[in-house]
Amino acid sequence: MDSLYNANGDNEAPYINSSENETGVDRMYGYNLRNEWKPNPICQISLQVGQVFESVEKGREILSKYAIQEGFELDKSKNDAKRLTYKCKGDECSWRIHLSSLPDNVTFNTRSITRDHVNCRRVMNNNEATTKWVASVTSILIRDNPNVKAKVFQTQIKSIYGVEPSKRKIYRAKRKE
Ligand SMILES: [Zn+2]
Repeated sequence: MDSLYNANGDNEAPYINSSENETGVDRMYGYNLRNEWKPNPICQISLQVGQVFESVEKGREILSKYAIQEGFELDKSKNDAKRLTYKCKGDECSWRIHLSSLPDNVTFNTRSITRDHVNCRRVMNNNEATTKWVASVTSILIRDNPNVKAKVFQTQIKSIYGVEPSKRKIYRAKRKE
């Protein structure tokens, strides 16, 4: 899977390589297809420079899920239709990622990542684990077990995802069903 991506670590993404007989649009389309972010078979999100997201919404969703997976909170210092710059909220931490829109103004790619967390501890009540996220990960469980207590879901979510959303969030997620 990683071979699909440019794995040059923290370097800037090399943009579209030129080749003869191709228009700029062809090249961009080919680049996007080759580099599109895809889930891997074990559902672990990995982020690499050069990965393409189909839209800004997809980029936001994947970064949010990544932060839950890795157990840190995001400081969204830029978060608009052209650029996403997200940092780790840890006081001493330098983890950051920058995505920007490609010339079609729809797709996004990852331009740079600074990976090292510094003195960050796993955040259990992660802001990224919103009611919507809780509803999405518990929907089947809740549908099949409508009378099970929120505490049980809380324990299950903690063991699977390593986050502990408040019971209030879980009640709200149950009501969404
Ligand atoms: Zn950090």
